[in-house]
Amino acid sequence: GARQVDVAIIGAGAAGLMCAIAAGRRGRRVLVMDHANKVGKKILMSGGGRCNFTNLHTTPEHFISANPHFVKSALSRYSPWDFIGLVEKHQVPYHEKKLGQLFCDRSSKDIVRILLAECAAAGVEVLTDCPVTVEQLGPPHRLHTGHGQVQCESLVIATGGYSIPRMGATGYGFDFARQLGLAVQPTRAALVPVTLEGRKLRQLADLSGVSLDTETSADGVAFRENILFTHKGLSGPAILQASSYWEAGKPMDIDLFPDLDIAEHLREARRERPRVELKTVLSDLLTRRVAQRLCELWLESKPLDQMSAADIDQVERTCKPWRIWPSGTEGYRTAEVTLGGVDTGGLSSRTMECRDHPGLYFIGEVVDVTGHLGGHNFQWAWASGHAAGQHV
Ligand code: FAD
Repeated sequence: GARQVDVAIIGAGAAGLMCAIAAGRRGRRVLVMDHANKVGKKILMSGGGRCNFTNLHTTPEHFISANPHFVKSALSRYSPWDFIGLVEKHQVPYHEKKLGQLFCDRSSKDIVRILLAECAAAGVEVLTDCPVTVEQLGPPHRLHTGHGQVQCESLVIATGGYSIPRMGATGYGFDFARQLGLAVQPTRAALVPVTLEGRKLRQLADLSGVSLDTETSADGVAFRENILFTHKGLSGPAILQASSYWEAGKPMDIDLFPDLDIAEHLREARRERPRVELKTVLSDLLTRRVAQRLCELWLESKPLDQMSAADIDQVERTCKPWRIWPSGTEGYRTAEVTLGGVDTGGLSSRTMECRDHPGLYFIGEVVDVTGHLGGHNFQWAWASGHAAGQHV
């Protein structure tokens, strides 16, 4: 006969494991299953191998969702400090890199180790190499798994998004939700580099590797961070952040002088160093390579005392902001997250349970909640996993 558990969780990523820990601590019999050959692959590859596991300044404003209020309940009941408590309990060394972003000193493996230790302490069973399909929705729910039939009272879908297909991402949670008739917000790659095409790419491709401090915006939302020129287009934290707000066919605006009134700066320089060339002044601000390219393409470099008001105006119009028209993004192959997902209108914000299907829960990235760069996505995985784990 089928194996009986209280709670079955599909997906042993950040959200699934946190949910398992919370439910196991409440004395529930919990089984977590993942079709990958090890748990938490995305945790392992995250934050450049050091896992940016939370952000001290997480607020609901750091998330994108069709319903921006949805995250409030779960985030307020599981804060960054709750997760930090777990990290400190296991004596894992960490540090703040910048902007409240907390990283492991050693390796992301420390975070997976914490989660598995807590699972073991809470009596949770974790199975890898275990594909799962839902045979019949209950409760009790019946599952077909790589390790036989399973029957459960609560079923938690924690299968993540489409990003990085080679790490085990499948979109199973989205398909399953649609089969049940649940609304799914359109999905697309987010926190992803953008591409340029044709002439624009040829003009800029050899700047590959150059990084600049900017204020970059898409759809009116601005991020004060670096951009990075790549051989396909643009990346860097400012571009990744803006990509979550960018839509095909729309521009991105890159202010190359975020702290500077460039016109005033040039007038001042003209008074003080009249024989200096525009290119030289811009080199100090933007690196020599970028200044040179700007002057080849759109500006005329000449001694400052030969620059008219109109010339100075031209510099400002070109650079504040510099407007680019991405041809697309690098897609799920390199995207950190999937925007969109299971519509929050069908879920309880307190428990993550489906309104129309008692005993069925969606948590983590599969839900239409997408965090900004900087540890907010893991904080959502922990908080939503914890919220469901209190209720299953
Ligand atoms: P996942 O962690 O993706 O887990 C889903 C699990 O479900 C996977 O183990 C998968 O194998 C399994 N699964 C899928 N389908 C099935 C199925 N049908 N049957 C069984 N199992 C299945 N966020 C941050 O906050 N900080 C960072 O530093 C950071 N860095 C990142 C770096 C990279 C390169 C990437 C790709 C993402 C990064 N993120 C980061 C985002 C973060 O990894 C995700 O938001 C987070 O992992 C989502 O957690 P999850 O548990 O919902 O999904």
